[in-house]
Amino acid sequence: MVTSLFDRLRDLARATGDRVGVFYIDLDQFKAINDTLGHQHGDMILKEVARRLLAVSTVDDAALRIGGDEFLFLAHEAAGRVRLEEQAHSLQLRLSVPVSASDRHLKVTPSIGLACYPEHGDDAEALMRFADWAMYEAKSRSRDRCHVFDAQLRERMEREVRLVADLKEAGAREQFDVHFQARHSVRLGRTVSVEALARWHHPALGMVPAGEFIPLCERAGLVNMLGHFVLRRAMQQSCAWRQLGIDVTIAVNVSLNQLVDARFASDVRQLFHVTGCDPHRIELEITESLLADDNPVVHDNLRQLRELGVRIAIDDFGTGYSNMSRLSVTDIDCIKIDRSLIVDLPRNAAIVETIIALCRVIKATIVAEGVETTTVADWLDQHGCDQMQGYYFGHPVAAAVMQEELLAQYAAEAEIIRATGTHALP
Ligand code: C2E
Ligand code: CA
Ligand code: CA
Repeated sequence: MVTSLFDRLRDLARATGDRVGVFYIDLDQFKAINDTLGHQHGDMILKEVARRLLAVSTVDDAALRIGGDEFLFLAHEAAGRVRLEEQAHSLQLRLSVPVSASDRHLKVTPSIGLACYPEHGDDAEALMRFADWAMYEAKSRSRDRCHVFDAQLRERMEREVRLVADLKEAGAREQFDVHFQARHSVRLGRTVSVEALARWHHPALGMVPAGEFIPLCERAGLVNMLGHFVLRRAMQQSCAWRQLGIDVTIAVNVSLNQLVDARFASDVRQLFHVTGCDPHRIELEITESLLADDNPVVHDNLRQLRELGVRIAIDDFGTGYSNMSRLSVTDIDCIKIDRSLIVDLPRNAAIVETIIALCRVIKATIVAEGVETTTVADWLDQHGCDQMQGYYFGHPVAAAVMQEELLAQYAAEAEIIRATGTHALP
């Protein structure tokens, strides 16, 4: 249907040297309207959006609903008509006008992606894909805006498509690895914990950062497989280090996709069984939005994991939406204050002091992430932070390097004890 509509417009435009725009329109947070106000209000909004789209269409244009809250608008930019880019902006404004429903005014904003014939391609399928990408770009920038597909986006998109294809093979080809980053205890003055961070050695592109490939794994449904690998590695490492007398907790990141799987906790139990690792040595880092989510499977998994003896940490605290009531009823062992709040210290001292006070109330260990300078480390030291992590204390490193560092730390401590005859640490 879309293809035949597009082909007709394209053939028309080709004959006259005109352009055709494919607008991908997605309503922002439409689900929230459906969930809070009911489907009746949701339906009303969809009908109004459709009406507004049809109102701006000429005989040469086409408007279609292609999914729940997704619309496609195909427009022919004939000579003398407004340019497609300007049309995107006016669509944006027109669709954002509040809809009157019952006694309220509902405002739903659209995110719009635009791809054009001939400059971006000449077949419907490709242009829809490009417009969809541009729409995602609009959403990721701040929603309620439009974005026009461009060469930069194409390059990123092609890299992503390639990375996703390669990721599917990466596990079997043993390209994944785990690096470890130290967490420094303020009181003990040494590393007491390490965070396991996934690494991907791409055969042609080199080391791909976790920040880039983890979201791709999540979208491609591969994150559970990767998460299982990292957990297993962390448990094996914990056993190996314990045999060497190294006493550290290993923190492992867990993604939402893992926690919404009803089998997650039993898979973890099985892994403890297979590796022989002590559950008290493992801490699982989850993001705060997971707590805000009322998904019973997530909470059941967390309860089972705690029963096993695993510690639970809230990662990137202060960046998302936190449900404070959940924080107090859920047993949280540790809160990791996000780097974005830490780098600005001491400028935003008030916020961090408040978070520290909150952590004290719920008796959680307080970890500051992204500590890069002496100024920040000193400030945190003086304001009751328990642990710090960041480049100031060390970058993530391979297991063998971390092992050397930990052993050297123990050797230095033993030397102090031998030389002074006392335990140097409080
Ligand atoms: P995260 O959990 O917040 O991990 C910390 C990230 O910040 C790491 O990036 C680390 O290298 C970086 N970092 C640490 N200290 C500093 C600092 O002082 N300055 C700066 N600028 N950065 C610092 P990385 O390894 O690229 O990981 C990015 C994200 O990917 C992680 O953020 C985590 O959300 C995710 N991730 C990593 N490994 C895993 C994994 O095994 N499973 C899952 N689900 N997610 C993972
Ligand atoms: Ca983390
Ligand atoms: Ca973090």
